[in-house]
Amino acid sequence: MRLTFERLSGGCNLHRCKLCGKVVTHIRNHYHVHFPGRFECPLCRATYTRSDNLRTHCKFKHPMYNPDTRKFDNLMSAAAATAAVAAQSPTATQIAAASQAAMAAAAAAAAFNAAQQQQQQTQQQREREREHHQQQQQSQAQQQLQQQAHNLTQQLQQHAHNLSQQQQQALLGVQQQQQQQQPYQVLPHQQHNATSE
Ligand SMILES: [Zn+2]
Ligand SMILES: [Zn+2]
Repeated sequence: MRLTFERLSGGCNLHRCKLCGKVVTHIRNHYHVHFPGRFECPLCRATYTRSDNLRTHCKFKHPMYNPDTRKFDNLMSAAAATAAVAAQSPTATQIAAASQAAMAAAAAAAAFNAAQQQQQQTQQQREREREHHQQQQQSQAQQQLQQQAHNLTQQLQQHAHNLSQQQQQALLGVQQQQQQQQPYQVLPHQQHNATSE
C-alpha cells in the first residue's frame, strides 16, 4: 500500500497518490478507491487487496483459522482464536467474562439447588424415620400400657380373689366359731329334739 503513495516532506502525514496524483491524509481510504476488493481478516480486521495475501496473513497470524472455509480446524484452536479476538476487543472480553460468570452462576445455582433438594430429601427421610420411631415408641408405650393394665387387672383379680378368700376364711371362721359355740347352745335343743322324737 505504501508503494502506491509518495510521502510529502512539507506537510504532516500528507501523501500523494502515484496513481492519480491526489494528495491525501488517509492513504488506506484512498487506496480502496483504486482497489475496491477488500479481503479483511475476521479475527483482527487486517485488510488485504488480494485473497492470497489474507491467506498468508492467516497462515502466520492465526494458524488454526482457515480463511477459505471461514472455520477453525478444531475447537481448541477456536477457543484460542476466540480468546485472541476477545483480547483485542473489550466488548468480546466482557461478553466472554459475562457468559463465563453466568455459566458459573448457573452451575453454582444448580449445585445449590441440588444440595438443597438433597437436604430436603434427607430431612424428609429423617422426619419419616422420626415418625416411624415415634410410632414404634407409641406402640411400645401402648404395649406397656396394655401390659400394665393386664398386670393391674391380674393384681385386682388376685386381690379380689384374696379378698374373697379372706371373706370365705372369715366366714369359715365365723361359721367355725358358730359351730364351736353351737354345741352349748344346740345341745339342749338337740337333746330336746332327741327327746322329742
Ligand atoms: Zn489515487
Ligand atoms: Zn488476522
